[in-house]
Order: sequence, then structure tokens, then C-alpha cells
Amino acid sequence: TDSESKSSALSGTLEQSVMDLRGVGPRLAERLLRLGVQTIGELLYLLPVRYEDRTELRRLGGLQSGEKVLVEGKIELTEIIYRGRRAMLTRITDGTGMLSLRFFYFSRAQQKNLKRGASLRCFGEIRAGSVGLEMVHPEYRLVGPDTAPPSKTLTPVYPLTEGLHQQRLRLLVAQALDHLEQVPLCDYLSDRLPADALKLKEALRFLHSPPQGTQVKSLSARRHPCQLRLALEELVAQRLCLLRINLGRQREEAVPITEGRELVHKFRDQLPFNFTDAQDRALTTILKDLYLNKPMHRLLQGDVGSGKTVVAAAAAIASAASGLQTAVMAPTELLAEQHYASFCAWVEPLGIDVVYLGGSVSGAARSDSLAQIATGSVPIIVGTHALFQKEVRFQHLALVVVDEQHRFGVDQRLELKLKGKDGKVSPHQLVMTATPIPRTLAMTAYADLDCSIIDELPGGRQPVQTVVIPDRKRIELVQRVFRHCQRGEQVYWVCPLIEESETIDSQAIEKVGQELKEALPELSIELLHGRMKSFAKDRVMRSFKAGDIDVLVATTVVEVGVDVPNATLMVVENSERMGLAQLHQLRGRVGRGTTASSCVLFYKAPLSELARARLSVMRETTDGFKIAERDLELRGPGEVLGTRQTGVIQLKIADLVRDAHLLPEVIRLSDELIEKYPQRVEPLIKRWLSGQPHYAKV
Ligand code: ADP
Ligand code: MG
Repeated sequence: TDSESKSSALSGTLEQSVMDLRGVGPRLAERLLRLGVQTIGELLYLLPVRYEDRTELRRLGGLQSGEKVLVEGKIELTEIIYRGRRAMLTRITDGTGMLSLRFFYFSRAQQKNLKRGASLRCFGEIRAGSVGLEMVHPEYRLVGPDTAPPSKTLTPVYPLTEGLHQQRLRLLVAQALDHLEQVPLCDYLSDRLPADALKLKEALRFLHSPPQGTQVKSLSARRHPCQLRLALEELVAQRLCLLRINLGRQREEAVPITEGRELVHKFRDQLPFNFTDAQDRALTTILKDLYLNKPMHRLLQGDVGSGKTVVAAAAAIASAASGLQTAVMAPTELLAEQHYASFCAWVEPLGIDVVYLGGSVSGAARSDSLAQIATGSVPIIVGTHALFQKEVRFQHLALVVVDEQHRFGVDQRLELKLKGKDGKVSPHQLVMTATPIPRTLAMTAYADLDCSIIDELPGGRQPVQTVVIPDRKRIELVQRVFRHCQRGEQVYWVCPLIEESETIDSQAIEKVGQELKEALPELSIELLHGRMKSFAKDRVMRSFKAGDIDVLVATTVVEVGVDVPNATLMVVENSERMGLAQLHQLRGRVGRGTTASSCVLFYKAPLSELARARLSVMRETTDGFKIAERDLELRGPGEVLGTRQTGVIQLKIADLVRDAHLLPEVIRLSDELIEKYPQRVEPLIKRWLSGQPHYAKV
């Protein structure tokens, strides 16, 4: 029969398809695929998201609300009640106490089954009901003489997908575990670990069926040694994958940028300020990288206002002096336009042309720009993702500068890079980010990039004073704004972005703008939001920069990169709704000149615990790295890096914060594998990253 032939096939390997398991046909296989599972081995690496303790029948007398428990009792009574919402209520007792089961959805058949005198086993969460303790919609089964005793192991709960139920998945994993007993499992790390370290097979078996007595709590904290053993392997796989990307790059070639030292000097001389030491170091490193015939892949990290752009401009000047092209890409039109303006002001006096290519450029102007880019007559091209479009052809793109990289996907970066690719030759890449990346993350999530840090703000800047106040103090704040503007300084008043609807957005800020205009008729107050046409935004931004507008009421479009040193007060509405990174970016809009600046974080009470924690971090420090560390603790790395956008590797069991203590071991092991056991690298990456094809393949 089918099942016999299948079980005899189960002597092979873990690479076998899940179709070789009993009861798995094409339909089920397709559903498993949605969970990233194609082989029996991958099924074993589908780890439970949590566990339930169904090993012990608890006495009804000793239950507490909030517990999830397995209980058994005799039915005393089943009745339909109509108080409040119609429900079926079943009462069970076991001699020590009593429990009510409450069902809001039930069939006639269910009602008939649950008759007085029958024994029932239930699993569910206890809560305090109107007539004592109860379970709402418990899982239950009638108990007879043949009913098996409770399970001897904790019950794993797996991630699910439509059409695949827990019970089904548990049985499949159980088959896979049987299979594991008969076939070799490659343990790529055990011989590199101390002799008493857990073996991989043991850890896997344990995690799918933890024996009775294992504390569910220790497992949910993910600190159990078996979980750590797997987390270690996963982190090694992640690092190997990124190192491999790096190695692959070292085989690529790039056009060296060898000219332009003098022009860069001239550029620095004509600036109204001196580079900070940190800028100087970053530029020196970058120019050294560019001098090589291997593509640079460098992350330039620096807090908001630390002056990254001017460093990038110097690199672009060297590229132009070498007769090569540089593409500078920003995430928003506004920011791209601002970069364009800065670049023009900086490089045109040196006789270098800049062209702008954004979504708003069309018609003849656009074809003109495209032609200039294609013939190579313009060396610096600033734009948005419009730089990706098919029609954009570069003559000799040698350097790609990407600003605010967390807003671009890795895929997008790759795409722009491919544009410059000419046979084996790739452009150099400089990625600028104002999101400080904590060391732990940088070492793992960005192991494929070299990193320079500008850890110093230009001199003369004063730290921004931050206050957190409830929005009922609005009137006092409005007075403060007035005094502020009378001194000739400017104000940002920012409202949060409501993602679902740009209409609501503009209404919200129009209301705020209207109120301010009424309260402060003497001041010039203008709005800026995403629904405005880009020429209108541009006009407002320009007049704000020129000092013609006192108060700029804006949505969070001003978050990124806008530079107006005379703006010294930042008011943020509904700050309780914003993340730390965003608040830090917003606050970075002020404190860019030599005058003392302040930031007012308005909130609507009551504050959630998380919001309270975030706002006090903002009050306590202006150090971007500290804020990022706290952000990481509060939100976890996936959120901090915007996992989906950046395409940062998604981890299954490891957690870069919680498992940070494993990193030295991770680094030691991955370096050792690369050096002494290179044949293990590929299978390890495949084991952990096969569900993320753009990484597995690179
Ligand atoms: P970032 O992009 O890192 O947030 P910017 O490059 O926008 O910062 O620089 C912020 C402002 O500081 C700009 O007006 C820039 O011209 C100016 N700036 C850059 N470097 C220095 C410096 N060394 N001294 C004084 N001002 C500087
Ligand atoms: Mg910037």
C-alpha cells in the first residue's frame, strides 16, 4: 500500500521531500511550502513558537485565573443562557471544585453530546467569570475508558498557515522526528564546540517534544540551552552568509578613482567651515577605498547633523575629477532636491555640473537630462528612485551614494549597482545612514559592509533641550512659539503621519495650522504635507529656509535630512505615537546652528508603558547611539532595521539583542569554518536561509 511504500522510503536523508512522509500529497506539500518547508529536514527546523503544558491534569479546586491548564471533570449540567449574549454553559466538577465552560458558538450536536454524567477533558485558559472560574471555548474531548492519558511531553505550538492545523503539523513533525532517528543529521558545529556542549540532534528532539516537567516559562524566554544551541548555529549561518556576500564582492572589479586630490582640497578650502576630525577620517578612508580596483561597500554612519553629505560630495568630486560619474540617491523628492541644491552650491564653483532626476522632472527637461547622463557630459546625478528607471543609462557610473539607507531595500541598492555594472566592473557604493546601528547589529546584520562612523558633531552646536508635556498645555506653548519667533528664530510644528489616509493627514494638519494662524495672526505660518505637489513643497521649503516663514506646520515629511539652521524649536504633536528613531530624526532638525534649541514633545494622555519609556529616553539623552540601543531593547531588531524593507536576514530562533552574548562565539566559529571547513559553509547557509532566496543564492 501507499503508506508502506512510503515508510520504506524513509531510510534516506533529511533532504528528502516532505512528500515522502505518510499522508503528505501535493496539496499539503504546497501548504508546507508556504511555511518555507520543502524537505523533512526543513520541517525539523520549523520550530515551535510556543508551548502548552498538557502533561498534567489539574484539580479544579486549585486553579487560578490566567493559567492555561488541562482539566477533567464530570458534566453536571449543560444549559443555554440568555443573559447578555446567548451562550451555552457547561458545568463540570471533579470532587475538588467546579468549572464553567462557556461557548458562544455551538451546534445542536455539541449541546446533545455534553450531557450530564459524561466525563470531559478540556484545555484552555482560566478566567474569572460571573459565576466563578470559567473557560471560554476550551478545546475538549469526551473521555472514555480507552482515552489515552495526558501527553508525556509539552505540546508544541507551530506557526500556522491557512489549511494546515496544529494537530496535523504535530503529527508530521512526529514522523520527521522518527525519521531523524534513522538518518544522519550533519552537525556542523559540535566538533568545534566544547565536548559537553549539546548535540544538535538532542536539541532538535527536545524542542519539538520537551519532556514533562520542562518549564514553559524558560522556553518562552528562549533562554533554554537547547534554544541557545540552535540560535548559535543560526547566527553562524547568518554571519557566513554575509561574509560570503563580502567575499563574492572581492572578486568583483571596479574602476579606481585616482584623481582629484587637489580638487577636493580646493573644495574644502572654499567651504565656510572646517571638517571635523571624524569627517576627515571618514573621507580619508573613503578616498583610499575608491583608489582601489575593487568596489567599495561602505556604510557611513553618523548622527543627524553630523555632516555626512559634505563627505559624500567630496567623494563625488574626486570621481568627477577622474572623468567618472556619481549617482546620489535620496529616499524622498524633498530630500533629493535639497541634496541637489547643496551639491550645486558646493561643486558648481569648481566647474563641475550636477543634474537632477526626480519624479517631478518630465518632458524636454527629462530627455535633456537623460541625454547628458548617457553621454557622460554631466558627472554628478542627484535623484530619487527615479534613477532606477530603465531609460536611465550612465556613461560610466563609478560611484553610487545612497542616503538614508533604511528606506531603500537591499534589492534596490543591488539594482542601482547593476546599472553601473559593465561586464565584471561594479560601481563603488557609499551608503549613508543617520540611523545609528548598535554594534551588535552592525556586526551581524551588516557584516557585508565596511563601516565608518562620524561620531562627532560640528563644533559650536548646543545640545537640544527636550521637554515632554501633555497637550492640554497647548496655550502656554503657543505663547512660547510667539516669543520664539519674535526673536527671529523659526519653528517646526510636526503632526504624525496617518498611514492609511493622506486625506485625514492633510485635514489634521490643516486644523492645527488654522488654529495656530488664528492664535498667532502676526506670524507667517505655512503648511507642508505629502499631498502637496512637489513644486508647492519646494516653494514652502525654500521660503522656510530663506526665513520668510516663521512656523512650518508639517507632517513627518520633514523628518529626513532637511537643513534649516535658524529653526530652533521643534514641536511634535502626538509624540506618543512615534517611534524612537523617528523622534530622534525629528529632533535632529533643530540644533543645527549655534543658537540653543529645544524640542517639545506633546502627548495625549494616557500614555502606554512603552510610549512612556520612549519619551523618557528622549528626555534623557540626545546621543543617537544610546537611543538606538534603547530602541533595540524596546522593539527588537526586526523593527529597528525595518526588516522587510531592508531585506535584513530574518532570524527564526536567534535574537540579536537577547543572544548578543553569543556573538564572540559566533565570530570564532564562523571564521574557523571558513578557514578549516569551507565545505560546511554552503550547507549551513542553506539549512537556515533557504526560505530567503535572495540571500541563499547570492
Ligand atoms: P547629515 O546628513 O549627516 O544629517 P548634513 O550633511 O545635512 O548632516 O549636515 C548638516 C549641516 O551641517 C549642513 O548645513 C552642513 O553644511 C553643515 N556642516 C557639515 N559639516 C560641517 C562642519 N564640519 N562644520 C560646520 N557645519 C558643517
Ligand atoms: Mg542627511
